[in-house]
Amino acid sequence: MVDLHTQYLKIQKEIDAGIREVIETTAFVKGQKVTDFQHHLEQYTGAKHVIPVGNGTDALQIALMGLGLKPGDEVITPTFTFIATAEVVALLGLTPVVVDVNWETMNMDTEAVRRAITPRTKAIVPVHLFGQCADMEPLMAIAEEHHLYIVEDACQAIGAKYTFSNGETKQAGTIGNIGCTSFFPSKNLGCYGDGGAIFTNDDELAAKMRAIANHGMVVRYHHDMIGVNSRLDSIQAAVLDAKLPHLDEYIASRQRAAAYYDQAFKGCGQILIPGRQAHSTHVFHQYTLRVTGADRDTLREGLAERGIPAMIYYPVPLHQQKAYLDPRYKDGDFPVAEKLAACVLSLPMHTELDDEQLEYITSSVLELCKK
Ligand SMILES: *Cc1c(COP(=O)(O)O)cnc(C)c1O
Repeated sequence: MVDLHTQYLKIQKEIDAGIREVIETTAFVKGQKVTDFQHHLEQYTGAKHVIPVGNGTDALQIALMGLGLKPGDEVITPTFTFIATAEVVALLGLTPVVVDVNWETMNMDTEAVRRAITPRTKAIVPVHLFGQCADMEPLMAIAEEHHLYIVEDACQAIGAKYTFSNGETKQAGTIGNIGCTSFFPSKNLGCYGDGGAIFTNDDELAAKMRAIANHGMVVRYHHDMIGVNSRLDSIQAAVLDAKLPHLDEYIASRQRAAAYYDQAFKGCGQILIPGRQAHSTHVFHQYTLRVTGADRDTLREGLAERGIPAMIYYPVPLHQQKAYLDPRYKDGDFPVAEKLAACVLSLPMHTELDDEQLEYITSSVLELCKK
């Protein structure tokens, strides 16, 4: 699905030098590399504050803690996504309220969000799924109207850009009150272990979340609030700081592969190419087909026999996950998410796909679909 080794070889000198520098200075935690990377990422994203943390899940948890949400407060999130959002909501004793997604873009359905609002709703967590922004302009309007916070889960969408009707363009993660991203190795900007970051333009929230990520501490050994221990380590920051200048090229490579896939598949009646979100660019963390006229699992097995990996993101929506079963929800409540879970198939997507590989993958998919 990804080829991180070839990508490494192309920038081996920068990566190795960065890692060596950390080892030689032994500033393994909270070193200069972390601060440098933070500033470079602030410049890249346009976020006023970047707070590096241990991983994307922690970023989401610290964001919700920073907003001061209380048990019983409701947080609206899509049911078709990775588990992390619902997990941190549950861990904090908040009430997850899930909504269905759009069949074309697979992102949160804005009208469903509107219907899910109650007097207890405090926040909306849109997920920019697979690399394109959710429908942010209407979501921001809903949040403003109902005085809700927006925490963007931009773990899959770093570098995606959303253009508002006034012509203003903002990056994924810098639109709502807070944005969260992950540097898990396979993410579009991945490190060589775990890492994550929080974005905000709000000075007060930034100071609070920085403290929460550091044991709730502002003055050393004085704890003003309950916090966690979540840090990006210096070696990971060195890797990320070496990769960040290449992120736009990486995005372009992914978009090129996606365009190849689109072109090859657009006339095939058995599969649907990913629908595009209006007003957002797509950075293709995943290229996800909807297999509507063939058996998805048979297609996946056929590809595996030809040495082509294909993955199901995600096979079970949140409301059907064993740990999250809830009497408020039953099978059939979120028909689009359930239909997607049964038909999605993500193809190899990374920065190193060449024409020969793309030709092999696309011709295999088309042959197997026609069987
Ligand atoms: C990867 C991911 C996360 C979690 O990131 P980690 O760094 O693995 O904790 C959260 N949400 C989404 C949508 C993700 O893709």
